[in-house]
Amino acid sequence: MSELVTARIRATAARLTLPHLAANLGEFVSRADDTQMGYLDFLDMVLEEEQAIKEERRIRHALRVSGMPHHKTIEDFDFSYQPDLDVRKVRDLGTVAYAEARANAAFLGPPGVGKTHLAVALAVAACRTGYSVYFTTMDDMVRQLRSADAIGKLTSKLKVYTRPQVLVLVLDEVGYLPLAREEANLVFQVISKRYERGSILLTSNKAFSEWGQVFGDEVLATAILNRLLHHCEVIAINGPSYRLKNRMEAVEAEIAAAG
Ligand code: ADP
Ligand code: MG
Repeated sequence: MSELVTARIRATAARLTLPHLAANLGEFVSRADDTQMGYLDFLDMVLEEEQAIKEERRIRHALRVSGMPHHKTIEDFDFSYQPDLDVRKVRDLGTVAYAEARANAAFLGPPGVGKTHLAVALAVAACRTGYSVYFTTMDDMVRQLRSADAIGKLTSKLKVYTRPQVLVLVLDEVGYLPLAREEANLVFQVISKRYERGSILLTSNKAFSEWGQVFGDEVLATAILNRLLHHCEVIAINGPSYRLKNRMEAVEAEIAAAG
């Protein structure tokens, strides 16, 4: 291939934002030569690879802006450690039908049982499929909304929590309880704006019956729960803490090493 043509293809590919082709033209051509590839297979290979690389970049970017603490998957979850947990229920949610249906899921249980792990896993799956995801604790969300409200920027800050197609909402690390009335009201605004428009993956170590105390107002708590639970898969995890499992194993290993 003449230098002139390769230079022109590289320039055109770059202008069409096909950076993978621009960078690997020579390698593509030798691969085609080596395997005596036909025209259609050659084009197919170039387009497929470019598309796969773009897709990976989109996912990496979306995961970064989602603010998720990690990107663990359902495959990383050891279901044998939570034998009472309904595997099929979790796997069904993992097919991303929940995001399509704009439905919610709530993971309830004591600390360390894997609530956040599973909520994040479902959000990661949705993100890979193309849904926008945002992760927040209730505590941080309330703090952000309050400070935005104080400087007259509530409307735009609310969008951070209402616009993503999937919102992961962690309610177990609540710093100050109960919420003040206007704080509970901010939460209500987020939940009602998302109602039937976007999914919420909630994790909480508070039973729904305690939400009146959490929000400092029974009526508001009921209004929030009505919207949240209307389309919601509730998954209770009541087994042992996985954090404790790791610690126990470390202690046992130490004892074995010492003995
Ligand atoms: P929770 O949100 O219920 O407090 P996390 O999801 O944060 O618990 O879990 C604590 C840690 O233990 C995380 O690192 C999580 O990945 C891990 N973990 C919890 N349960 C399991 C499990 N069944 N299999 C694998 N890892 C688990
Ligand atoms: Mg958690």
